[in-house]
Amino acid sequence: MSYIAPIGRLVEQFRHLPGIGPKSAARLAYHVLKMDKSQVTALAQAIVEAKERVGYCSVCFDLTDTDPCQICRSEGRDQSVVCVVEDPKDVAAMERTREFKGLYHVLHGSLSPLEGVGPDDIKVKELLDRVGKGIQEVIMATNPNVEGEATAMYIAKLLKPLGVLVTRIAHGLPMGGDLEYADEVTLSKALENRREM
Ligand SMILES: [Zn+2]
Repeated sequence: MSYIAPIGRLVEQFRHLPGIGPKSAARLAYHVLKMDKSQVTALAQAIVEAKERVGYCSVCFDLTDTDPCQICRSEGRDQSVVCVVEDPKDVAAMERTREFKGLYHVLHGSLSPLEGVGPDDIKVKELLDRVGKGIQEVIMATNPNVEGEATAMYIAKLLKPLGVLVTRIAHGLPMGGDLEYADEVTLSKALENRREM
């Protein structure tokens, strides 16, 4: 389909977003053109500001606008327990349960030999560096799929010789699913029923 140039550029930008095909991109572009100018400006500013102000915590690698992040800095959190997740979205999911009071470590991916993702491509070394600084338990909360399980096993093998308790969140989460889509009750239960690896 051919658009006049400014619309074409907008459609093209939307197409870069995850889950947006050509039809959705066109729908969004036409919607933007129908919006008030003030709304469009607010949208554009929110995007730019989020990108400018949000970075990664140098301790846990979650998204943050302060470094260290709020959770890492909080005196109310249990500094002896670290929950390892794949993605910042998973931290948000765990926080929604309000059950977990420890710290996090975001790997930014999972091991996937088929896609060429090895241990050096995710934040494994950074996790090992944290252990030994008063951490007693590491909860592996990677996704319940093949890559997530393999990642949990790989990291558990590295952690155990360091004398730290390594646990895995319980099954009961839909296999093959993502942590971020689990409801709060399921996720709380999975955390509560974690087992030593
Ligand atoms: Zn942090």
